[in-house]
Amino acid sequence: MDSSILIATILDWHSEIDRNLPWKYNSSPYKIWISEIILQQTQVVQGLRYYERFVDRYPTVHDLASSTESDLLKVWEGLGYNSRARYLHQSAKRIVDEFGGKFPVEYSDILSLKGVGDYTASAISAFAYEQPHVAVDSNVERWVSRYYGIASYKSSQSLKTEVKSILLPVVEKHESPAECNQAFIDFGALVCTAKQPKCIDCPLSQTCYGYAQSKTADYPLVKPKVPRKKRYFHYLVAVDNGHVVINKRLNKDIWQGMHEFPLYESDSLQDLTHQDLCRYFDINESTSIESIISYQQILTHRIIIGKFYLCKLKRGTVKIGQWMSVDQVKKIAVAGIVRLYLADNMFIFNDINKIENGK
Ligand code: SF4
Repeated sequence: MDSSILIATILDWHSEIDRNLPWKYNSSPYKIWISEIILQQTQVVQGLRYYERFVDRYPTVHDLASSTESDLLKVWEGLGYNSRARYLHQSAKRIVDEFGGKFPVEYSDILSLKGVGDYTASAISAFAYEQPHVAVDSNVERWVSRYYGIASYKSSQSLKTEVKSILLPVVEKHESPAECNQAFIDFGALVCTAKQPKCIDCPLSQTCYGYAQSKTADYPLVKPKVPRKKRYFHYLVAVDNGHVVINKRLNKDIWQGMHEFPLYESDSLQDLTHQDLCRYFDINESTSIESIISYQQILTHRIIIGKFYLCKLKRGTVKIGQWMSVDQVKKIAVAGIVRLYLADNMFIFNDINKIENGK
């Protein structure tokens, strides 16, 4: 099928469907930017909650630029990939300083913002400014690669380039690049879905290569998965009468800028011995460990195994972090694995004796 007829067919289909996500047809470049950054590594349902909370807290780029990083990380807490939040913050400051508080209009200026790649810059250009760009996300590359039988790897640059070369000439001639882009994305999300595409009802089924060859599951090609690396985090949970010792993660690593208990990272699942704990955390040998509890968090490329060694210490005796009250801890952004522990064990700060050993 000629690509202009193909796209006309998709636009025709799209004119019939429901449009109910808050960022659809949103013409605010600021809000599109926020939504696209949130959705970079996040499922739509979870992303929607954070998007609403985020734009409610920071309705304008000025509000975002004038916030503090710790405030921002607290709003972002639980979403992961915190570098996205830091890039939003840095870029908001740049927009205020260099662009007079107005979101840039030129594609190259948008692309120059930290954390913004071709997809996000194209989405903002098309949706906010009706500029002729194609935002190739996983939905778009999936249906185009199946329809044409393009044997390139999922998310690869070569696939994105090929998809653009097919769609862009038609978008350039269309009066609404925004309408075209939304239709392309929705078509992949609702019809040519990752699992069980709705080929029977698909308006392109008569001419689709993947469907004709019964190879819809083969496109786009998928690279073999690299196994996730395991990391072992051993945390000393030192408490005293409603207070606990906390540190901030400063290194360029996961959860940078977030808070946690004093940490020792090892390369094995084995519990630290009492001797190890005294050595790594500089605690007295007479200190007894009340409990050791393990949690696991699966991230995209890592599995974090957290071991939490609870002990009671006198405030002032620990020099490896800052004592904070429970109320202070509730206000700071904490690392994901620590949040899992706190969700079950907040009560220990006031009543250490309640804890059961070996959960
Ligand atoms: S026929 Fe099936 S594989 Fe082809 S574009 Fe339609 S939904 Fe996708």
